Amino acid sequence: MRARILISSCLLGAPVRYNGSAKMLVHGAIDRWQKEGRLVSVCPEISAGLPIPRPPAEIERGYDGADVLVGNARIVENTGRDVTDAFLSGAQIALDIALSHRCQFALLTDGSPSCGSSFIYDGQFNGTRHNGVGATVALLQRNGIAVFTNTKQGIEQLEQALMQADLAV
Ligand code: SF4
Repeated sequence: MRARILISSCLLGAPVRYNGSAKMLVHGAIDRWQKEGRLVSVCPEISAGLPIPRPPAEIERGYDGADVLVGNARIVENTGRDVTDAFLSGAQIALDIALSHRCQFALLTDGSPSCGSSFIYDGQFNGTRHNGVGATVALLQRNGIAVFTNTKQGIEQLEQALMQADLAV
């Protein structure tokens, strides 16, 4: 069986982001993987029942998703509402979907408090970034799923990883 990829729904054009937009990723590899039946789409936040639109949310005080998983940090909206439980629920649903489809890899939207893998925002809602992962990414990585960013470099790295996984079958 060809290796499968869990992918953020917003990268496939679904308008599911907090502000009701998509983040369509246009790349030949995406079209090819789609035709090969490798892509499994998920939006952790919508899976958890959060609405569109919704207030932006960030992981507080410069922590990251790994801290959220162990209860050391919360995820809060810019209104101050604590949405940690919903984000954890979305992370678990994304993991369950990945495991049920035997996804070894994930291609997720960077910067998101759910899907970010190279950077996230620091909880001040002023655009300050720091290195860290979102809650879904932390849970996927903890369960052995390799996560790649929605960048040219991330796609190239994923292409290499897929090639090796396909050869190993
Ligand atoms: Fe996209 Fe992930 Fe945010 Fe859903 S949670 S809108 S898939 S970045």
